[in-house]
Amino acid sequence: MNPVDSQVKCCFTSKIVVNEEEWVQVEHLCCHRDCDSHASYTAYYSFNKEKPDGHLDEDGNGEGKSHMDSSPALGTSAPGKSVRIFGMETSPAEFKEFDTSSLEFIKPDNPEKMWIRLQGLQNYKNTSQRLRCLVKQLEKGEINVADLKKNIEYTASVLEAVYIDETRRLLDTEDELSDIQSDSVPSEVRDWLASTFTRKMGVMQRRPVEKPRFRSIVHAVQAGIFVERMYRRTSNMIGLTYPAAVISALKDIDKWSFNVFALNEASRDHALKFMVHELFTRYDLINRFRIPVSSLMSFVEALEAGYSKYKNPYHNLIHAADVAQTVHYLMLHTGIMHWFTELDILAMLFAAAIHDYEHTGTTNNFHIQTRSGVAILYNDRSVLENYHVSAAYRLMQEEEMNIMCNLSKDDWRDLRTLVIEMVLSTDMSCHFQQIKTMRNTLQQPEGTDKAKVMSLMLHAADISHPAKSWQQHYRWTMTLMEEFFRQGDSEADLGLPFSPLCDRKSTMVAQSQIGFIDFIVEPTFSVLTDLAEKIITPLIEEASQSETIFQPQSLTNIRTTPETNRRHSVRSVPSDGGCSTEYSISTVDLKCFKLNWMDIIQQNKEKWKELAIQDAEEKIRQKTEQNKNNEHHKNNDHSTENVIAAEDKISVGCDEEILERKSSPTKSLVNQLSIAANNSILQRHLHTASCDSLSWEHDAYPAETLIQHGPPWNGEMKHIKDTEETVNNSKEILDYKVTFIRN
Ligand code: AMP
Ligand code: ZN
Repeated sequence: MNPVDSQVKCCFTSKIVVNEEEWVQVEHLCCHRDCDSHASYTAYYSFNKEKPDGHLDEDGNGEGKSHMDSSPALGTSAPGKSVRIFGMETSPAEFKEFDTSSLEFIKPDNPEKMWIRLQGLQNYKNTSQRLRCLVKQLEKGEINVADLKKNIEYTASVLEAVYIDETRRLLDTEDELSDIQSDSVPSEVRDWLASTFTRKMGVMQRRPVEKPRFRSIVHAVQAGIFVERMYRRTSNMIGLTYPAAVISALKDIDKWSFNVFALNEASRDHALKFMVHELFTRYDLINRFRIPVSSLMSFVEALEAGYSKYKNPYHNLIHAADVAQTVHYLMLHTGIMHWFTELDILAMLFAAAIHDYEHTGTTNNFHIQTRSGVAILYNDRSVLENYHVSAAYRLMQEEEMNIMCNLSKDDWRDLRTLVIEMVLSTDMSCHFQQIKTMRNTLQQPEGTDKAKVMSLMLHAADISHPAKSWQQHYRWTMTLMEEFFRQGDSEADLGLPFSPLCDRKSTMVAQSQIGFIDFIVEPTFSVLTDLAEKIITPLIEEASQSETIFQPQSLTNIRTTPETNRRHSVRSVPSDGGCSTEYSISTVDLKCFKLNWMDIIQQNKEKWKELAIQDAEEKIRQKTEQNKNNEHHKNNDHSTENVIAAEDKISVGCDEEILERKSSPTKSLVNQLSIAANNSILQRHLHTASCDSLSWEHDAYPAETLIQHGPPWNGEMKHIKDTEETVNNSKEILDYKVTFIRN
């Protein structure tokens, strides 16, 4: 609820109707008892078709001046070729100028555009009317300073919104459609151009965003109803029988600590099937979108088969189930669920389930280098991600797997647009740009792009295991490494150079994980948490206001019922019929959410550091062994030269490091390991970014962090090679150092 509604209680409203004769009827209504401008009037505007310049012909004489009839015959005047305004109690003359100027530029030969514009203009008009009410109240000395301040702030926010909208309209270079939205292009041609030559066809056909800029209490209540419905238990459990072990494994589905490996064991390698069924049921998606349960089962079984096709250690059905559960957790515990429509939720869960469908266990770069069929098909652009969505949609073309068969055309289209955007953004080469874009979003006062938030949530879930318990994270890491190493084996067989982290003999797993956490995971979760705060804060305010209003003692006299009071609560009922949990927007605790993931990634990093030291000690041991063996084969002089050379190499530019090492060899070693780790993880992501031919902006990542943790690097492609060399040097230095410490 905006402050004007609550403080001034002047409820001016305007309604715009374009009738068949292309008359625009604008009804203004103020029904506040105490407001001087209490009035109701209707204005009719028509456009003189004969006038080629498109200006309003407001008095029918072609002079371009407005004519206003303030006769109180509300609504009785037939539309004609002049503007007539009918007033009651208060003359609406003061609105005349605003009305005229608002409509002046609208061209009569484009009523569609005019209509959209008029809808937007209503906000500005309402604001101006409210300001006038305020002036009147000020004159009468009826308003206090606090109210005045709130209302001025509200007005400022409206003006800011106008500024942003208009600036964007002028400057939005991304909007390829703007050029072809000229009035001279017929709409059919425009649609054809848009759908054929731009990437905006989905956008063109999308219905207007349902979220208004000024959310009202009605929306808050609607959200409450929606949420309650989402979590209603349904009778659709007939599709799948849950073994007791599965029910037990699913009991923690709302928790961060949920163990997907346990679910997979309990379900005998059907974690994805049970996860999808459980979540679709909990959110009532099966009923809401009339998804045939038999189709759902066939579809998910086909998904499972696809995930098992290449027997990947990491990119398999367990990973898909894990990402789906994590997305569910994020929606629930960030409160973003309350911002979503049912279709958004369907899109999120569906995208999570399909996002790595038929993954080959090799990277995009491997596909590109080996010129695989999919790389050729998708022109080296987000090869796997394109494939995952496409193949999953192809499954649904089979009638018995068409789970979206009962969606309306609009829903089907909107869902597809969202799913494509989300899955494509799981391409890691989008990571830095994605984070940068979302950080920028945080700085803007305007609303947040829902599809982008959804994409970030899926991406976060996709790389979330370093923020999970050590047991889970370690297991995921080892399976991922094994998958990378298998690719490295293939690369060796094919005579290709090893991709980063793919050489099983030299990859420093522990160190790479520290880098992955620092550079990739932590920033992702951090920006997601900040975004969630931005999104849900107004929802929480709305919810608390509506609760106040629904109190029986409320002065607003709105009737309250136990039903309405409950609307902001959600009960999550697990399949086992066990304990239910209350989830409402007011129980969302982002602080707790943040502390939890921060704490876990910190602990995991500490563990990796310990392992890094162990690795280093093992390397020292191996090196010693090797040296001992070498002693038998090499002459002593030559060996000594090596050690001296090593010492010299470390000394160059590293004097302080050596001093520190002397006092604390372990600490120094860990620092050095960290640098190497960060280099290798950076190298991997640089590699990803460059190989996938997507743009790389050096400022997409905070420069200070790079300098702090890695080598100086200006982000241009040619420096990738430099980085690789630096990494090799780091490894070399490390090896020398290990030898040196030991000796
Ligand atoms: P996806 O392939 O869709 O699962 O995207 C996630 C990507 O993040 C993986 O392919 C890896 O490249 C990367 N990733 C996930 N976990 C790790 C990890 N522990 N270490 C390094 N990279 C990781
Ligand atoms: Zn994935």
